[in-house]
Amino acid sequence: KENSARENNVAKIKVVVRKRPLNKKEVSRKEEDIVTVEDNALTVHETKLKVDLTAYVEKHEFCFDAVLDEQVTNDEVYRATVEPIIPTIFQRTKATCFAYGQTGSGKTYTMQPLPLRAAEGLVKILHQPPYRSQGFKLWLSYFEIYGGKLFDLLSDRKKLCMREDGRQQVCIVGLQEFEVLDVQIVKEYIERGNATRSTGSTGANEESSRSHAILQLVVKKHSEVKESRRHNTANEPKVGKVVGKISFIDLAGSERGADTTDNDRQTRIEGAEINKSLLALKECIRALDNDQIHIPFRGSKLTEVLRDSFVGNSRTVMISCVSPNAGSCEHTLNTLRYADRVK
Ligand code: ADP
Ligand code: MG
Repeated sequence: KENSARENNVAKIKVVVRKRPLNKKEVSRKEEDIVTVEDNALTVHETKLKVDLTAYVEKHEFCFDAVLDEQVTNDEVYRATVEPIIPTIFQRTKATCFAYGQTGSGKTYTMQPLPLRAAEGLVKILHQPPYRSQGFKLWLSYFEIYGGKLFDLLSDRKKLCMREDGRQQVCIVGLQEFEVLDVQIVKEYIERGNATRSTGSTGANEESSRSHAILQLVVKKHSEVKESRRHNTANEPKVGKVVGKISFIDLAGSERGADTTDNDRQTRIEGAEINKSLLALKECIRALDNDQIHIPFRGSKLTEVLRDSFVGNSRTVMISCVSPNAGSCEHTLNTLRYADRVK
C-alpha cells in the first residue's frame, strides 16, 4: 500500500498483524494451527464442510505492512512499530498505538512492554541537547473507558469527565499525571493500572476484556519561571505546554462487540458500546488515511478522547493480534477483515 503522507520516513498509518503461538491448552487438545505467515502475508486455512459433509480447506490470504509470526519477540514488535515514531514526538506528533483482537489473542501481552520501551526512548532524547535544560518533561497517565465512561487507573478508578477547550484540545478533568523521572517507575505504573483494571467493580478477571485501557506518555515544555515556584513535581497536569504524545490503547476484546444479544442487560449495553467504538475507530482511521478534513470522532467516547490525536501531525499504529488455533478461526478472520479495512 502506498502511503501518501510520509514525514520523517515514518508512515502515517501502519497496520501490523501479530500471531501468537498455540498455548498449552490448545496443544493438549491437539488443536490445529491454521495460520501461516510468509513475509508480509498471512493465510488462514479454514476447514469447511460440503453439503455431503466432506471437508475441504478454504484459504484466506491477507497482506499488511508487516506480519509478525509466533517467534517474534516483544522487543522486535517494539522496533517494528513504536520505535520509529519516538523522535517525531518532539516534532509535535500525536501518536496512537492500538492492540486489536479477540480476548486471549495477545493484546495485553503485546501492549504491556511498549510504554516502558517508549519511555526509555523519550527520556534518552530529553536528556540530550537541545532538549536538556530547556524544560522538557515526560508525563504519564493511565485510564480506561468502560461502558462509555472514563476511570483513572492510577487513582482507584476515580470517575473522570472529558472536556474540549476552544482549540480542539481534549482535557480529561481530574486525570492524574505523573512525571517520569526514572523509567523503571513506568513499569510500576503499568502494573498498578493493570491490577486496578482487571479487578474492576466486580473483581472478575474477564472484566478487562470489556474496557479500553489507555496509557499516555506526554512530552511537555515547562517555562523556567513557573518551574522555580513549584516544589512538588507530581500531579501538576496544567503546568507546561504539550509538545507531543503517544497513547497506547489496549482495546476491549473485539468479540465483545457481538454481546448485543446476551441475556444480561448490562452485558448488552457494554457490548453495544464496544461495537460502536470499534466501528467509530475504523471510520476515523480510514478518514485519516484518506486525508479527509472531517474526522468522524464523535461516533464514540473512545474516538472523542483521541480527537486531538486524529488531527494535524498524527501517527497511527494498529497491531492486530490473532490466535492460531482452529477454534478461533471465525474471530481471526473478523480481526483480519477489520485490519484490512483500516489499512
Ligand atoms: P488478550 O489481552 O488479548 O486477552 P493476553 O495478552 O492476555 O490476551 O494473552 C493471552 C495469553 O496468551 C496470555 O497467557 C499470554 O501470556 C499468552 N500470549 C499472548 N501472546 C503471546 C506471545 N506472542 N507469545 C507467548 N505467549 C503469548
Ligand atoms: Mg487483555
